[in-house]
Amino acid sequence: MNKPALTLLTIITTMTLASCDSGNNQGATDASKYTARTNSNVTAILPFENESDFAEARRGLIASAESLVVKNAANGMTWDRTAYDFIEGDAPDSVNPSLWRQASLNNMHGLFKVTDGIYQLRGFDLANMSLIESKSGWIIVDPLTTTETARTALAFARKHLGNKPVIAILFTHSHIDHFGGVQGILESSQGEGIGSNGAEVPIIAPAGFMEEATSENIIAGIAMGRRAMYMYGKRLPRSAHGHIDSGLGKEPALGDFGIAKPTQLIRETNETLSIDGVQFVFQIASGSEAPAEFTFYLPDYNAFCGAEMVSRTMHNLYTLRGAKVRDGLLWSNLIEESMTLFPQTEIYFGSHHWPIWGAEKIRTFLTEQRDTYKFIHDQSVRLLNAGHTAEEIAEMIKLPASLSTSFSTRGYYGTLKHNAKAVYQGYLGWYDGNPANLDPLPASQTAARYVDLMGGADEVFEQAEEAFDDGDYRWAAELLNKLVFADADNEDARQLLAKTYDQLGYQSESAPWRDIYLTGAYELRHGNPEEGIKISFMEGVLQQTPVEKFFDSMAVRLNGPDAEGVKSLINITFTDLQETHVLQIVNSVLHHRKQAADPKATATLKLTHPMFIKLAIGKAGLKDLLFSEDIQYEGSKLDLISFFSLFDKPTGTFSIVTP
Ligand SMILES: [Zn+2]
Repeated sequence: MNKPALTLLTIITTMTLASCDSGNNQGATDASKYTARTNSNVTAILPFENESDFAEARRGLIASAESLVVKNAANGMTWDRTAYDFIEGDAPDSVNPSLWRQASLNNMHGLFKVTDGIYQLRGFDLANMSLIESKSGWIIVDPLTTTETARTALAFARKHLGNKPVIAILFTHSHIDHFGGVQGILESSQGEGIGSNGAEVPIIAPAGFMEEATSENIIAGIAMGRRAMYMYGKRLPRSAHGHIDSGLGKEPALGDFGIAKPTQLIRETNETLSIDGVQFVFQIASGSEAPAEFTFYLPDYNAFCGAEMVSRTMHNLYTLRGAKVRDGLLWSNLIEESMTLFPQTEIYFGSHHWPIWGAEKIRTFLTEQRDTYKFIHDQSVRLLNAGHTAEEIAEMIKLPASLSTSFSTRGYYGTLKHNAKAVYQGYLGWYDGNPANLDPLPASQTAARYVDLMGGADEVFEQAEEAFDDGDYRWAAELLNKLVFADADNEDARQLLAKTYDQLGYQSESAPWRDIYLTGAYELRHGNPEEGIKISFMEGVLQQTPVEKFFDSMAVRLNGPDAEGVKSLINITFTDLQETHVLQIVNSVLHHRKQAADPKATATLKLTHPMFIKLAIGKAGLKDLLFSEDIQYEGSKLDLISFFSLFDKPTGTFSIVTP
């Protein structure tokens, strides 16, 4: 059965919507004259006169989704396209014009014909849902983030294209914006076509999909969730002084998220498949943008779906919410491989943004994407081998004009600066080689001492004000951050730092940078969120996570100091899975082994796997459960209770812009 499962990207966002201001009253200031000038200079360096992206983004429009608002069953907002209606005309001073242009393109919405037989729904969620016509129905590529948006998009397509059954579903990769809405497709295919009579709708995904989709964000998920609030600007109003875009599209929808186990995995490049008369040739692109990803070619259409391996933006080698770094060299090589594999491509379409028509234009696009990642990789390595640190490389690296003047390689999502640092991190890690930075004091310990040394808080504030008045915002941020970390109650410093972050946000070409700065400003003015990502919100995805991976995630919640001196050995038997795992705490670490029950254990717990997950994440209390019929135990009740009391339940609301 296809069980619904929450996954991180969007859970992350759920907590924060309620606290999001709907108006433009979050206290943000206007663009300064420096910001206005910096932003207007952008129009001089980029070919804004070239309108071909707009023509492509508009091409093939069948019906627009003007008033699209999707609510969930509880009448809460899942997706509000109209929240972005303010994005029209020229960029206001408070938005980088290049980002405004991208946000305007991402605002184009509706059902589009890519070519006869291939359609796309764009602007129904963060990502695109593509439809490929087969002999007797539709093959759906990437069913969006939520049940509600996928359901709405499919209904919209059926209204305009006819009521055809869903023949198969493809997940191009393991990120939630490309599979989370699968239930909205599956439910609608009951009683139709191949999905009828209880038969399963085939779901095709790259090898490793299920494992990556459920486990990618589990171990460090709490921190990632908190940081994602910044990256996606979830606490900000949608306005010219707030969030306007994510770079990849609008925000991810938020509602019911699901996952469904693929019925067929694609394991190798050049693997072919015929789905209801449509020929597919796959390329495994795992390790480019996602750890499990494929692209595919449709020979009947000379069409190439690049999934998210290529997009109309520079993507992330490092994702600012926090993630393992991606390998720019491998990524570049995979793009090159796709160009070699599918040279006859006449139509390109992807999981985000708008398509490209014409072999030459597509070749140029792919070449620029390929060379952007390779350039970042190669030049960052050149500079690190010359002894430069990550921060120095970020200042030094510049794309060649042939790449930097192409809109599709601009840093709307990733940026050159943070991607260059990612290359450094990938090869050399956090240490820059300088002994002074080997064991430095943390900011919370040095800030007050620096402030004293610099003549006290008033003097530093004066200097910061001067920097702010001169438009020297990065330096102002550095000084004010010291003041706030020296004394979080320094209200003047907080307010000026917030104003500084406003300006840095307004100047940012990258949507995540903008959202991060503006969220920093927001939290300096309004404080931390009341609710964060709690481990209990992840119950759905944890239920789908392989048992071993779950125990790994439990081990990282063991409170080391509390577990000092504790020696504990217990058996956990999952009655539904008919397997036993022996858990041992020793040396303040949790070990887990799947094996027969250990007779030396002081207690044995027998329960179903779903019940155990509830228990482990604090959704069910052990004391209550021990009296219920769902659980059987042998041995020491006290040992069991003290065992489970050793695990943290982080709130996910930790401070970021204050100590
Ligand atoms: Zn995506």
